[in-house]
Amino acid sequence: MPSIPAPILSKTAIDFIDDDHLEGLLKGSAPQAARIREIIAKSLAKEPLSVEETCDLLLVEDPELVEEIFNGARQLKETVYGNRIVLFAPLYIGNRCVNNCSYCAFRSSNKDAIRRTLTPDEIGQQVEAMEKKGHKRLILVFGEHSDYDAKFIAESVRKVYETRSGHDEIRRVNINAAPLNHDDYVTVKESGIGTYQIFQETYHHETYAQCHPANTRKGNYLYRLDGLSRAMEAGCDDVGIGALFGLYDWRFETLALVQHALHLQQVYGVGPHTISFPRIQAAQGVKIDNKYMVNDDQFKRLVAILRLAVPYTGMILTARENPEVRRELLSFGVSQIDAGSRIELGGYTEVGDAQVMEREQFQLGDMRSLDEVMRELIEDGYLPSFCTACYRSGRTGEHFMEFAIPGFIKRFCTPNGLSTLMEYLMDYASPATRAAGELLIQKEVEQLTDEKLKSQLVERLDLIKNSKARDLYF
Ligand code: SAM
Ligand code: SF4
Repeated sequence: MPSIPAPILSKTAIDFIDDDHLEGLLKGSAPQAARIREIIAKSLAKEPLSVEETCDLLLVEDPELVEEIFNGARQLKETVYGNRIVLFAPLYIGNRCVNNCSYCAFRSSNKDAIRRTLTPDEIGQQVEAMEKKGHKRLILVFGEHSDYDAKFIAESVRKVYETRSGHDEIRRVNINAAPLNHDDYVTVKESGIGTYQIFQETYHHETYAQCHPANTRKGNYLYRLDGLSRAMEAGCDDVGIGALFGLYDWRFETLALVQHALHLQQVYGVGPHTISFPRIQAAQGVKIDNKYMVNDDQFKRLVAILRLAVPYTGMILTARENPEVRRELLSFGVSQIDAGSRIELGGYTEVGDAQVMEREQFQLGDMRSLDEVMRELIEDGYLPSFCTACYRSGRTGEHFMEFAIPGFIKRFCTPNGLSTLMEYLMDYASPATRAAGELLIQKEVEQLTDEKLKSQLVERLDLIKNSKARDLYF
Protein backbone atom coordinates (compact mmCIF):
# COMPACT_ATOMS: atom_id res chain seq x y z
CA MET A 1 0.00 0.00 0.00
CA PRO A 2 1.40 3.45 -0.86
CA SER A 3 2.29 5.65 2.11
CA ILE A 4 1.75 9.38 2.43
CA PRO A 5 5.00 11.12 1.34
CA ALA A 6 7.08 12.78 4.07
CA PRO A 7 6.28 16.51 4.30
CA ILE A 8 8.58 18.87 2.39
CA LEU A 9 8.05 22.61 2.87
CA SER A 10 8.19 25.30 0.16
CA LYS A 11 11.34 27.33 -0.54
CA THR A 12 9.88 30.30 1.28
CA ALA A 13 8.14 28.48 4.11
CA ILE A 14 7.54 30.76 7.03
CA ASP A 15 4.96 30.92 9.76
CA PHE A 16 3.53 34.35 8.97
CA ILE A 17 0.75 34.16 11.57
CA ASP A 18 1.82 35.95 14.74
CA ASP A 19 -0.96 35.22 17.23
CA ASP A 20 0.22 37.80 19.75
CA HIS A 21 0.37 40.53 17.14
CA LEU A 22 -3.14 39.78 15.85
CA GLU A 23 -4.56 39.48 19.38
CA GLY A 24 -2.87 42.76 20.26
CA LEU A 25 -4.48 44.52 17.29
CA LEU A 26 -7.88 43.21 18.31
CA LYS A 27 -7.47 44.74 21.76
CA GLY A 28 -7.50 48.21 20.15
CA SER A 29 -10.34 50.63 20.75
CA ALA A 30 -13.11 51.33 18.27
CA PRO A 31 -11.82 53.74 15.60
CA GLN A 32 -13.43 57.08 14.73
CA ALA A 33 -16.11 57.16 12.05
CA ALA A 34 -13.82 59.22 9.75
CA ARG A 35 -11.15 56.50 9.82
CA ILE A 36 -13.71 53.80 8.99
CA ARG A 37 -15.02 55.86 6.08
CA GLU A 38 -11.47 56.34 4.81
CA ILE A 39 -10.90 52.58 4.89
CA ILE A 40 -14.16 51.85 3.09
CA ALA A 41 -13.24 54.44 0.45
CA LYS A 42 -9.84 52.80 -0.05
CA SER A 43 -11.52 49.49 -0.61
CA LEU A 44 -14.05 51.01 -3.01
CA ALA A 45 -11.04 52.28 -4.98
CA LYS A 46 -10.25 48.54 -5.22
CA GLU A 47 -7.13 48.63 -3.11
CA PRO A 48 -6.62 45.66 -0.82
CA LEU A 49 -6.67 46.55 2.88
CA SER A 50 -3.85 45.94 5.31
CA VAL A 51 -4.30 43.72 8.35
CA GLU A 52 -4.43 46.85 10.52
CA GLU A 53 -7.16 48.44 8.40
CA THR A 54 -9.14 45.21 8.43
CA CYS A 55 -8.80 45.15 12.20
CA ASP A 56 -10.24 48.64 12.44
CA LEU A 57 -13.32 47.45 10.57
CA LEU A 58 -13.59 44.47 12.92
CA LEU A 59 -13.49 46.77 15.95
CA VAL A 60 -16.57 48.72 14.86
CA GLU A 61 -19.57 48.15 17.13
CA ASP A 62 -21.67 51.25 16.38
CA PRO A 63 -24.70 49.91 14.42
CA GLU A 64 -24.71 52.85 12.02
CA LEU A 65 -21.07 52.34 11.12
CA VAL A 66 -21.65 48.61 10.78
CA GLU A 67 -24.40 49.51 8.30
CA GLU A 68 -21.89 51.67 6.38
CA ILE A 69 -19.56 48.68 6.19
CA PHE A 70 -22.42 46.56 4.81
CA ASN A 71 -23.23 49.22 2.25
CA GLY A 72 -19.57 49.48 1.25
CA ALA A 73 -19.42 45.72 0.73
CA ARG A 74 -22.62 45.76 -1.36
CA GLN A 75 -21.27 48.57 -3.51
CA LEU A 76 -17.91 46.90 -4.00
CA LYS A 77 -19.55 43.64 -4.96
CA GLU A 78 -21.55 45.43 -7.61
CA THR A 79 -18.59 47.30 -9.07
CA VAL A 80 -16.12 44.40 -9.08
CA TYR A 81 -18.37 41.44 -9.72
CA GLY A 82 -21.66 42.81 -11.01
CA ASN A 83 -24.73 40.66 -10.42
CA ARG A 84 -23.17 37.35 -11.44
CA ILE A 85 -23.16 34.39 -9.09
CA VAL A 86 -21.12 31.40 -10.18
CA LEU A 87 -22.58 27.98 -9.38
CA PHE A 88 -20.80 24.76 -8.57
CA ALA A 89 -21.35 21.51 -6.66
CA PRO A 90 -19.14 19.29 -4.50
CA LEU A 91 -18.39 15.68 -5.32
CA TYR A 92 -17.03 13.63 -2.43
CA ILE A 93 -14.63 11.03 -3.82
CA GLY A 94 -13.48 9.31 -0.64
CA ASN A 95 -13.86 9.70 3.11
CA ARG A 96 -11.04 7.53 4.38
CA CYS A 97 -8.87 9.69 6.57
CA VAL A 98 -5.75 9.34 8.69
CA ASN A 99 -6.48 12.54 10.61
CA ASN A 100 -8.60 13.02 13.66
CA CYS A 101 -9.95 16.55 13.33
CA SER A 102 -12.24 17.13 16.30
CA TYR A 103 -15.04 18.73 14.22
CA CYS A 104 -15.28 16.30 11.32
CA ALA A 105 -17.36 13.14 10.93
CA PHE A 106 -14.63 11.65 8.74
CA ARG A 107 -12.08 11.72 11.60
CA SER A 108 -10.26 8.43 12.06
CA SER A 109 -11.70 7.81 15.53
CA ASN A 110 -15.29 7.90 14.22
CA LYS A 111 -15.93 4.19 13.89
CA ASP A 112 -19.58 4.78 12.94
CA ALA A 113 -18.68 6.51 9.69
CA ILE A 114 -19.24 4.35 6.64
CA ARG A 115 -15.93 4.53 4.77
CA ARG A 116 -15.98 4.47 1.05
CA THR A 117 -13.94 5.49 -1.96
CA LEU A 118 -15.73 5.85 -5.28
CA THR A 119 -14.47 3.59 -8.05
CA PRO A 120 -13.88 5.19 -11.46
CA ASP A 121 -17.24 3.80 -12.62
CA GLU A 122 -18.96 5.25 -9.57
CA ILE A 123 -17.33 8.62 -10.19
CA GLY A 124 -18.72 8.41 -13.72
CA GLN A 125 -22.23 7.66 -12.40
CA GLN A 126 -22.15 10.56 -9.94
CA VAL A 127 -20.88 12.94 -12.60
CA GLU A 128 -23.57 11.84 -15.06
CA ALA A 129 -26.24 12.48 -12.44
CA MET A 130 -24.79 15.93 -11.73
CA GLU A 131 -24.52 16.77 -15.41
CA LYS A 132 -28.16 15.81 -15.93
CA LYS A 133 -29.08 18.51 -13.42
CA GLY A 134 -27.06 21.09 -15.33
CA HIS A 135 -23.79 21.31 -13.42
CA LYS A 136 -20.69 22.44 -15.28
CA ARG A 137 -18.29 23.13 -12.39
CA LEU A 138 -17.37 20.67 -9.65
CA ILE A 139 -15.15 20.58 -6.63
CA LEU A 140 -13.79 17.14 -5.77
CA VAL A 141 -13.41 16.50 -2.04
CA PHE A 142 -11.06 13.94 -0.47
CA GLY A 143 -10.13 12.83 3.03
CA GLU A 144 -6.40 12.53 3.69
CA HIS A 145 -5.23 9.01 3.07
CA SER A 146 -2.44 7.15 1.32
CA ASP A 147 -5.09 5.90 -1.14
CA TYR A 148 -5.69 9.49 -2.21
CA ASP A 149 -2.25 10.32 -3.54
CA ALA A 150 -1.56 12.79 -6.34
CA LYS A 151 -1.93 10.13 -9.01
CA PHE A 152 -5.33 9.12 -7.66
CA ILE A 153 -6.51 12.73 -7.46
CA ALA A 154 -5.33 13.36 -11.03
CA GLU A 155 -7.07 10.19 -12.30
CA SER A 156 -10.29 11.23 -10.57
CA VAL A 157 -10.11 14.63 -12.29
CA ARG A 158 -9.55 13.02 -15.67
CA LYS A 159 -12.46 10.66 -15.12
CA VAL A 160 -14.73 13.64 -14.43
CA TYR A 161 -13.70 15.45 -17.62
CA GLU A 162 -14.05 12.24 -19.66
CA THR A 163 -17.62 11.71 -18.45
CA ARG A 164 -19.56 13.57 -21.09
CA SER A 165 -22.33 12.98 -23.56
CA GLY A 166 -24.38 15.33 -25.72
CA HIS A 167 -24.60 18.68 -23.98
CA ASP A 168 -23.58 17.18 -20.66
CA GLU A 169 -20.03 17.91 -19.61
CA ILE A 170 -18.04 19.24 -16.69
CA ARG A 171 -15.85 22.13 -17.76
CA ARG A 172 -13.99 22.91 -14.59
CA VAL A 173 -12.85 20.69 -11.73
CA ASN A 174 -11.57 22.26 -8.51
CA ILE A 175 -10.03 20.32 -5.65
CA ASN A 176 -10.41 20.35 -1.87
CA ALA A 177 -7.89 17.90 -0.50
CA ALA A 178 -4.94 17.61 1.84
CA PRO A 179 -1.84 19.75 1.26
CA LEU A 180 0.69 18.08 -1.06
CA ASN A 181 4.42 18.28 -1.71
CA HIS A 182 5.74 20.21 -4.72
CA ASP A 183 5.97 17.33 -7.21
CA ASP A 184 2.53 16.05 -6.32
CA TYR A 185 0.97 19.42 -7.11
CA VAL A 186 2.65 19.21 -10.52
CA THR A 187 1.01 15.81 -11.09
CA VAL A 188 -2.42 17.10 -10.05
CA LYS A 189 -2.07 20.30 -12.07
CA GLU A 190 -1.38 18.28 -15.22
CA SER A 191 -4.86 16.76 -15.00
CA GLY A 192 -6.34 20.20 -15.69
CA ILE A 193 -7.59 21.38 -12.32
CA GLY A 194 -8.95 24.84 -11.62
CA THR A 195 -8.58 25.95 -8.00
CA TYR A 196 -6.74 23.93 -5.33
CA GLN A 197 -8.43 24.69 -2.01
CA ILE A 198 -6.99 24.12 1.45
CA PHE A 199 -8.63 25.55 4.57
CA GLN A 200 -6.35 26.26 7.49
CA GLU A 201 -9.44 25.56 9.68
CA THR A 202 -8.10 27.76 12.50
CA TYR A 203 -5.08 30.02 12.25
CA HIS A 204 -4.82 30.17 16.04
CA HIS A 205 -1.90 27.92 16.96
CA GLU A 206 -3.14 26.67 20.30
CA THR A 207 -6.64 25.94 18.99
CA TYR A 208 -5.14 24.29 15.94
CA ALA A 209 -3.18 21.96 18.19
CA GLN A 210 -6.30 21.13 20.21
CA CYS A 211 -8.35 20.24 17.13
CA HIS A 212 -5.62 18.38 15.26
CA PRO A 213 -3.69 15.86 17.37
CA ALA A 214 0.08 16.29 17.08
CA ASN A 215 0.65 12.67 16.06
CA THR A 216 -1.53 13.08 12.96
CA ARG A 217 -0.57 14.32 9.57
CA LYS A 218 -2.73 17.40 9.89
CA GLY A 219 -1.20 18.17 13.29
CA ASN A 220 1.63 19.96 11.45
CA TYR A 221 0.43 23.59 11.39
CA LEU A 222 3.22 24.99 9.25
CA TYR A 223 2.96 22.23 6.65
CA ARG A 224 -0.68 23.13 6.16
CA LEU A 225 -0.13 26.90 6.26
CA ASP A 226 2.58 26.50 3.65
CA GLY A 227 0.42 24.18 1.54
CA LEU A 228 -0.75 26.74 -0.98
CA SER A 229 2.68 28.35 -1.21
CA ARG A 230 3.97 24.99 -2.42
CA ALA A 231 1.06 24.85 -4.84
CA MET A 232 2.11 28.25 -6.23
CA GLU A 233 5.73 27.15 -6.56
CA ALA A 234 4.56 24.06 -8.44
CA GLY A 235 2.62 26.14 -10.96
CA CYS A 236 -0.87 25.96 -9.44
CA ASP A 237 -1.39 29.69 -9.26
CA ASP A 238 -5.12 29.34 -8.69
CA VAL A 239 -5.60 28.61 -5.01
CA GLY A 240 -8.35 28.94 -2.41
CA ILE A 241 -7.87 29.69 1.27
CA GLY A 242 -10.41 29.32 4.07
CA ALA A 243 -11.08 29.06 7.78
CA LEU A 244 -13.65 26.96 9.60
CA PHE A 245 -15.53 29.52 11.65
CA GLY A 246 -16.56 28.40 15.12
CA LEU A 247 -13.27 26.94 16.31
CA TYR A 248 -11.82 30.23 17.57
CA ASP A 249 -12.61 33.98 17.71
CA TRP A 250 -14.12 34.96 14.34
CA ARG A 251 -12.32 38.28 14.35
CA PHE A 252 -8.92 36.61 14.75
CA GLU A 253 -9.66 34.19 11.90
CA THR A 254 -10.77 37.05 9.65
CA LEU A 255 -7.52 38.93 10.25
CA ALA A 256 -5.49 35.79 9.68
CA LEU A 257 -7.26 35.09 6.38
CA VAL A 258 -6.35 38.59 5.23
CA GLN A 259 -2.76 38.03 6.39
CA HIS A 260 -2.66 34.81 4.38
CA ALA A 261 -4.03 36.51 1.26
CA LEU A 262 -1.46 39.31 1.58
CA HIS A 263 1.35 36.81 2.10
CA LEU A 264 0.55 34.97 -1.14
CA GLN A 265 0.23 38.27 -2.97
CA GLN A 266 3.55 39.56 -1.63
CA VAL A 267 5.59 36.40 -2.16
CA TYR A 268 4.07 35.08 -5.40
CA GLY A 269 2.56 38.22 -6.90
CA VAL A 270 -0.85 36.52 -6.93
CA GLY A 271 -3.43 36.53 -4.18
CA PRO A 272 -5.82 33.64 -3.59
CA HIS A 273 -8.51 33.18 -6.21
CA THR A 274 -11.11 32.41 -3.56
CA ILE A 275 -11.76 32.67 0.16
CA SER A 276 -14.14 30.30 1.95
CA PHE A 277 -15.62 30.92 5.36
CA PRO A 278 -17.57 27.78 6.34
CA ARG A 279 -19.29 27.84 9.71
CA ILE A 280 -19.00 24.64 11.65
CA GLN A 281 -22.08 22.40 11.36
CA ALA A 282 -23.44 19.53 13.40
CA ALA A 283 -21.72 16.31 12.42
CA GLN A 284 -21.85 12.70 13.53
CA GLY A 285 -20.43 12.30 17.01
CA VAL A 286 -19.06 15.86 17.08
CA LYS A 287 -19.56 17.97 20.19
CA ILE A 288 -19.58 21.59 19.16
CA ASP A 289 -18.27 24.02 21.75
CA ASN A 290 -20.56 27.04 21.73
CA LYS A 291 -17.86 29.40 22.95
CA TYR A 292 -16.78 30.51 19.51
CA MET A 293 -19.95 29.90 17.54
CA VAL A 294 -20.46 32.71 15.07
CA ASN A 295 -24.00 34.09 15.08
CA ASP A 296 -25.71 35.41 11.96
CA ASP A 297 -24.90 39.05 12.74
CA GLN A 298 -21.23 38.34 13.28
CA PHE A 299 -21.24 36.20 10.16
CA LYS A 300 -22.67 39.05 8.11
CA ARG A 301 -20.00 41.34 9.45
CA LEU A 302 -17.14 39.03 8.69
CA VAL A 303 -18.34 38.43 5.15
CA ALA A 304 -18.74 42.16 4.50
CA ILE A 305 -15.32 42.93 6.00
CA LEU A 306 -13.60 40.20 3.99
CA ARG A 307 -15.26 41.56 0.85
CA LEU A 308 -13.80 44.99 1.57
CA ALA A 309 -10.37 43.68 2.61
CA VAL A 310 -9.67 41.58 -0.50
CA PRO A 311 -11.56 43.29 -3.33
CA TYR A 312 -10.35 40.94 -6.09
CA THR A 313 -10.79 37.63 -4.36
CA GLY A 314 -13.81 35.47 -5.11
CA MET A 315 -15.86 34.61 -2.04
CA ILE A 316 -17.55 31.23 -1.63
CA LEU A 317 -20.66 30.62 0.47
CA THR A 318 -21.61 26.96 0.71
CA ALA A 319 -24.85 25.05 1.28
CA ARG A 320 -23.78 24.58 4.89
CA GLU A 321 -25.82 27.75 5.39
CA ASN A 322 -29.61 27.83 5.23
CA PRO A 323 -31.45 29.47 2.30
CA GLU A 324 -32.33 32.64 4.24
CA VAL A 325 -28.74 33.34 5.32
CA ARG A 326 -27.50 32.58 1.82
CA ARG A 327 -30.02 34.90 0.26
CA GLU A 328 -29.06 37.80 2.49
CA LEU A 329 -25.31 37.28 2.19
CA LEU A 330 -25.31 37.17 -1.56
CA SER A 331 -25.56 40.94 -1.71
CA PHE A 332 -22.52 41.34 0.53
CA GLY A 333 -19.94 40.16 -1.87
CA VAL A 334 -20.37 36.44 -2.28
CA SER A 335 -19.45 35.47 -5.82
CA GLN A 336 -19.78 31.67 -5.82
CA ILE A 337 -22.28 29.27 -4.25
CA ASP A 338 -22.91 25.57 -4.54
CA ALA A 339 -26.42 24.31 -5.23
CA GLY A 340 -28.17 20.96 -5.40
CA SER A 341 -25.28 19.64 -3.32
CA ARG A 342 -25.05 16.15 -1.82
CA ILE A 343 -22.18 15.39 0.48
CA GLU A 344 -22.71 11.69 1.08
CA LEU A 345 -20.42 9.41 -0.88
CA GLY A 346 -22.59 8.39 -3.82
CA GLY A 347 -25.21 10.91 -2.70
CA TYR A 348 -26.22 12.09 -6.16
CA THR A 349 -27.67 8.73 -7.11
CA GLU A 350 -28.21 6.75 -3.94
CA VAL A 351 -29.88 8.61 -1.11
CA GLY A 352 -32.91 10.44 -2.49
CA ASP A 353 -33.75 13.66 -0.68
CA ALA A 354 -32.75 12.61 2.85
CA GLN A 355 -29.52 13.44 4.64
CA VAL A 356 -27.75 10.32 5.86
CA MET A 357 -25.73 11.01 8.99
CA GLU A 358 -23.47 7.96 8.76
CA ARG A 359 -22.47 8.86 5.26
CA GLU A 360 -21.88 12.57 5.34
CA GLN A 361 -19.20 14.84 6.73
CA PHE A 362 -21.60 17.31 8.35
CA GLN A 363 -25.19 18.48 7.91
CA LEU A 364 -26.23 20.77 5.11
CA GLY A 365 -28.44 23.82 5.66
CA ASP A 366 -29.62 24.21 2.07
CA MET A 367 -30.94 21.08 0.41
CA ARG A 368 -32.76 22.79 -2.45
CA SER A 369 -32.25 21.57 -6.00
CA LEU A 370 -30.06 23.43 -8.46
CA ASP A 371 -33.20 24.47 -10.36
CA GLU A 372 -34.82 25.99 -7.25
CA VAL A 373 -31.69 27.93 -6.41
CA MET A 374 -31.35 29.10 -10.01
CA ARG A 375 -34.92 30.36 -10.00
CA GLU A 376 -34.50 32.26 -6.74
CA LEU A 377 -31.28 33.85 -8.00
CA ILE A 378 -32.94 34.93 -11.24
CA GLU A 379 -36.00 36.30 -9.46
CA ASP A 380 -33.74 38.25 -7.11
CA GLY A 381 -32.02 39.87 -10.09
CA TYR A 382 -28.79 37.83 -10.07
CA LEU A 383 -27.23 36.35 -13.16
CA PRO A 384 -26.41 32.72 -12.34
CA SER A 385 -23.34 31.74 -14.31
CA PHE A 386 -21.56 28.50 -15.16
CA CYS A 387 -18.85 30.37 -17.02
CA THR A 388 -15.43 28.74 -17.21
CA ALA A 389 -13.97 30.99 -19.90
CA CYS A 390 -11.15 32.65 -17.95
CA TYR A 391 -9.73 29.41 -16.73
CA ARG A 392 -9.95 27.80 -20.14
CA SER A 393 -8.37 30.81 -21.86
CA GLY A 394 -5.49 30.92 -19.39
CA ARG A 395 -6.86 34.02 -17.66
CA THR A 396 -6.07 32.89 -14.10
CA GLY A 397 -3.67 33.97 -11.40
CA GLU A 398 -2.23 37.41 -12.06
CA HIS A 399 -4.33 37.71 -15.17
CA PHE A 400 -7.44 37.26 -13.12
CA MET A 401 -6.49 40.30 -11.07
CA GLU A 402 -5.62 42.31 -14.11
CA PHE A 403 -8.95 41.59 -15.68
CA ALA A 404 -11.12 42.05 -12.61
CA ILE A 405 -12.01 45.54 -13.67
CA PRO A 406 -15.44 46.89 -14.60
CA GLY A 407 -14.83 46.96 -18.37
CA PHE A 408 -13.79 43.34 -18.25
CA ILE A 409 -17.00 42.23 -16.63
CA LYS A 410 -19.09 43.93 -19.30
CA ARG A 411 -16.89 42.63 -22.10
CA PHE A 412 -16.49 39.03 -20.95
CA CYS A 413 -18.21 37.95 -17.74
CA THR A 414 -21.74 39.16 -18.41
CA PRO A 415 -21.97 37.85 -22.00
CA ASN A 416 -20.35 34.54 -21.02
CA GLY A 417 -22.60 34.24 -17.98
CA LEU A 418 -25.63 34.87 -20.20
CA SER A 419 -24.54 32.20 -22.70
CA THR A 420 -24.11 29.61 -19.97
CA LEU A 421 -27.44 30.59 -18.46
CA MET A 422 -29.12 30.15 -21.85
CA GLU A 423 -27.56 26.68 -22.10
CA TYR A 424 -28.94 25.81 -18.68
CA LEU A 425 -32.40 27.10 -19.57
CA MET A 426 -32.52 25.12 -22.80
CA ASP A 427 -31.03 21.87 -21.54
CA TYR A 428 -32.00 21.48 -17.89
CA ALA A 429 -34.38 24.08 -16.45
CA SER A 430 -37.98 23.59 -15.31
CA PRO A 431 -40.56 25.59 -17.31
CA ALA A 432 -40.85 28.24 -14.55
CA THR A 433 -37.09 28.74 -14.28
CA ARG A 434 -36.81 28.86 -18.04
CA ALA A 435 -39.44 31.57 -18.32
CA ALA A 436 -37.84 33.67 -15.58
CA GLY A 437 -34.38 33.16 -17.06
CA GLU A 438 -35.36 34.18 -20.57
CA LEU A 439 -36.78 37.43 -19.23
CA LEU A 440 -33.57 38.09 -17.33
CA ILE A 441 -31.44 37.43 -20.41
CA GLN A 442 -33.57 39.82 -22.44
CA LYS A 443 -33.19 42.53 -19.78
CA GLU A 444 -29.44 42.04 -19.50
CA VAL A 445 -28.94 42.14 -23.25
CA GLU A 446 -30.92 45.37 -23.50
CA GLN A 447 -28.58 46.94 -20.96
CA LEU A 448 -25.44 46.25 -23.01
CA THR A 449 -24.12 49.49 -24.44
CA ASP A 450 -21.48 48.11 -26.80
CA GLU A 451 -23.55 47.54 -29.95
CA LYS A 452 -21.02 45.25 -31.63
CA LEU A 453 -20.77 43.03 -28.58
CA LYS A 454 -24.55 43.07 -28.22
CA SER A 455 -25.15 41.83 -31.76
CA GLN A 456 -22.44 39.15 -31.43
CA LEU A 457 -24.04 37.99 -28.21
CA VAL A 458 -27.58 37.97 -29.59
CA GLU A 459 -26.34 35.83 -32.47
CA ARG A 460 -24.73 33.39 -30.05
CA LEU A 461 -27.76 33.24 -27.78
CA ASP A 462 -29.90 32.38 -30.81
CA LEU A 463 -27.52 29.61 -31.82
CA ILE A 464 -27.78 28.15 -28.32
CA LYS A 465 -31.55 28.54 -28.23
CA ASN A 466 -31.91 26.77 -31.53
CA SER A 467 -29.57 24.00 -30.38
CA LYS A 468 -27.04 24.87 -33.07
CA ALA A 469 -24.18 25.49 -30.66
CA ARG A 470 -22.98 25.15 -27.08
CA ASP A 471 -19.94 26.30 -25.10
CA LEU A 472 -19.45 29.64 -26.87
CA TYR A 473 -17.40 32.15 -24.93
CA PHE A 474 -15.60 35.43 -25.34
N1 SAM B 1 -9.56 16.32 4.08
C1 SAM B 1 -9.19 17.54 3.49
C2 SAM B 1 -8.87 18.58 4.51
O1 SAM B 1 -9.22 18.43 5.65
O2 SAM B 1 -8.25 19.55 4.11
C3 SAM B 1 -10.24 18.14 2.60
C4 SAM B 1 -11.63 17.71 2.72
S1 SAM B 1 -12.48 18.25 4.14
C5 SAM B 1 -13.64 16.99 3.88
C6 SAM B 1 -13.14 19.84 3.64
C7 SAM B 1 -13.42 20.83 4.70
O3 SAM B 1 -14.61 20.50 5.37
C8 SAM B 1 -12.42 20.94 5.81
O4 SAM B 1 -11.31 21.70 5.41
C9 SAM B 1 -13.24 21.61 6.90
O5 SAM B 1 -13.07 23.00 6.91
C10 SAM B 1 -14.68 21.31 6.51
N2 SAM B 1 -15.41 20.67 7.61
C11 SAM B 1 -15.03 19.60 8.33
N3 SAM B 1 -15.94 19.34 9.31
C12 SAM B 1 -16.90 20.28 9.21
C13 SAM B 1 -18.09 20.56 9.96
N4 SAM B 1 -18.47 19.83 11.00
N5 SAM B 1 -18.84 21.62 9.59
C14 SAM B 1 -18.48 22.38 8.53
N6 SAM B 1 -17.37 22.15 7.79
C15 SAM B 1 -16.58 21.12 8.13
FE1 SF4 C 1 -9.96 14.18 7.48
FE2 SF4 C 1 -10.32 16.58 6.34
FE3 SF4 C 1 -12.17 15.56 8.00
FE4 SF4 C 1 -9.87 16.35 8.97
S1 SF4 C 1 -11.39 17.65 7.94
S2 SF4 C 1 -10.87 14.42 9.48
S3 SF4 C 1 -8.48 15.84 7.32
S4 SF4 C 1 -11.56 14.75 6.04
